[in-house]
Amino acid sequence: MKYDRCPKCGGDIYTEKDSSSGRVMREYTCSKCHWSDFADEGTALWQILSDDREEQEKVRREKAAAKPSFWAAFWRRLLGR
Ligand SMILES: [Zn+2]
Repeated sequence: MKYDRCPKCGGDIYTEKDSSSGRVMREYTCSKCHWSDFADEGTALWQILSDDREEQEKVRREKAAAKPSFWAAFWRRLLGR
């Protein structure tokens, strides 16, 4: 939190967060004098999480492709091939 109080009049600040663009933009507005400022709080959490999921999925696919399937080995052994 960048502001607890309005730097101009000391009034209450209310904040609004917008992460629709993939970045967290927080807007601070004074309820008394309507002074306002905004802060760029970096990449939105859902953006980080979705990147992470994609990365994990990629690793999982690569591992699955690199290692022969358990069931393929099981059937080969069972059928004696
Ligand atoms: Zn103010």
